[in-house]
Amino acid sequence: SESTQTSTDPPRSKGAKRVKEDEANRTLVWFRRDFRLHDHMALARASASTPASQSHLLALYLISPEEWIDHDEAPIKVDFWLRALPILRKDFAALHIPLIIRTLDRAKGQHADVILDVCKQYRISAVHWNREYEVDELARDASVQQLLQTHDRQVYQHHDQCIVPPGQVLTKAGTTSKVYSSFRNSWYTVVARNPSLLKESRFPRANEPSALRELHEAFEDGHIPESLDQFPLAESARERARRDFPVGEEEAKKRLHAFIQKKMGMYGENRSSLALQGTSILSPYLHSGMVSARSCIREAKEANGNRLEGGMAGAVNWMAEVVWRDFFRHILVAHPKVSRNQPFKAEFTRFPWASDSGDRSFQAWTQGRTGYPIVDASMRCLNTTGWLHNRSRMVVASFLCKDLLVDWRKGERYFMQHLLDGDLASNNGNWQWVAASGTDSQPFFRIFNPARQSQRFDPDGAFIREWVKELRDCPKEDIHAPSASIAQRLKYPEPIVDHSKARDRALKAFQQMRSAS
Ligand code: FAD
Repeated sequence: SESTQTSTDPPRSKGAKRVKEDEANRTLVWFRRDFRLHDHMALARASASTPASQSHLLALYLISPEEWIDHDEAPIKVDFWLRALPILRKDFAALHIPLIIRTLDRAKGQHADVILDVCKQYRISAVHWNREYEVDELARDASVQQLLQTHDRQVYQHHDQCIVPPGQVLTKAGTTSKVYSSFRNSWYTVVARNPSLLKESRFPRANEPSALRELHEAFEDGHIPESLDQFPLAESARERARRDFPVGEEEAKKRLHAFIQKKMGMYGENRSSLALQGTSILSPYLHSGMVSARSCIREAKEANGNRLEGGMAGAVNWMAEVVWRDFFRHILVAHPKVSRNQPFKAEFTRFPWASDSGDRSFQAWTQGRTGYPIVDASMRCLNTTGWLHNRSRMVVASFLCKDLLVDWRKGERYFMQHLLDGDLASNNGNWQWVAASGTDSQPFFRIFNPARQSQRFDPDGAFIREWVKELRDCPKEDIHAPSASIAQRLKYPEPIVDHSKARDRALKAFQQMRSAS
């Protein structure tokens, strides 16, 4: 089952306060990275469990600045979430469901304390939420569950983020597959055997407006700030994000449908081009749960004659990318050390990262001033928009940990602090894939040549010209690797390392790690 009732009969101490009759019906859904009403497991289950005749469903969102700082959430992402809240509240109001907002201040109480207060204030007896799988989130949710149960509240946690819940795609030996291709094949088998995994969960039923009189003030219970001091964002970045990434599930659905109709067919051909927008650009919406991964696969599959495999190559390729998302979440659950800053392959704890030049070259990388146009264009694009094409992510990640020998964890953190879709499982999984320290990674000796990547995936230099102003007028034949004299004339930085020497240095460092193992 997708849902797990984690509270059955909570232990009661003698004389403990029992929930009163009228408290037994009211149900709360705690929203986190799941800003939507459609196809939302916790909401559907909570709605199904409340009596139709009464108004008993409430929703809660906790604004948690301190937790978000601990998790390196990017200001542009926090802005995305804050922009989503008024829409969520409006969508709920249409169903007469109050969305309560609380801003957490750890000095005054943790998540658990605040949720218990809300339960007491609104006489709530059951709380539902969709599971999050990162180590900190699991610990947080366990403490919320414990406190609520101690106070006689039922807790229901649901699997919703992945299409197949973690732990259900297994090898013959009963372990989570560490190899993506075999994971994907088993994933197809599991999904084919359980069509309900792709089924849309039911839209929540509206509360009875008449019974809500007493809760009326709850429609506006909790202020939604426009911004948070802890997450400063330049006005220009804010405006750009509003234009490029409007929030809400309607927008997410629109993008999904447009992608399926217009671009999915050519996904295989166009997905790697930096100049074409050949991918769905749905990652911010998937990360924040404005669209469910289930809907993505369900709709792509339908468009592909109801097939996961075979049929339209673009559809098959695209669905396989969405499976990568499940894969890295399953890995995170099976190997929680990756969420604790550990390389998947233990030998990489001994990798001799550069200690001397790390800071200087890391800074040049973050600023997009490495003298490698494709790297610089990509980093400037990330810094300005909060989003980056997958090819760019691979190129800059490879350049950081192989050409500059900077520990991949610094890059991983920088990405989290700047990405609109920064997602621990996918970010960590992909950084480790590039660094070769992860499960089923590319081999270490596969070191991208930035100029060649640029020639292949941005042949006319359109992407470079868009982001590296100095090179706007650089001739096409020079743009991928400008000569020293051209760089000087255009006031573009000279390369901070020589790629072929850097490659040799990286391979030596890898051998050093190997011989020490
Ligand atoms: P599409 O190509 O349209 O794919 C559809 C969806 O499938 C994506 O939105 C995403 O949810 C999923 N997906 C696609 N590729 C991958 C992948 N390799 N791994 C996991 N899921 C995938 N993706 C994130 O969502 N968050 C991250 O923090 C993140 N960090 C990354 C860091 C590095 C170094 C690299 C190389 C990749 C990272 N990715 C991350 C994966 C990938 O780059 C993005 O998911 C993709 O570029 C998003 O664009 P899209 O929505 O147009 O993808």
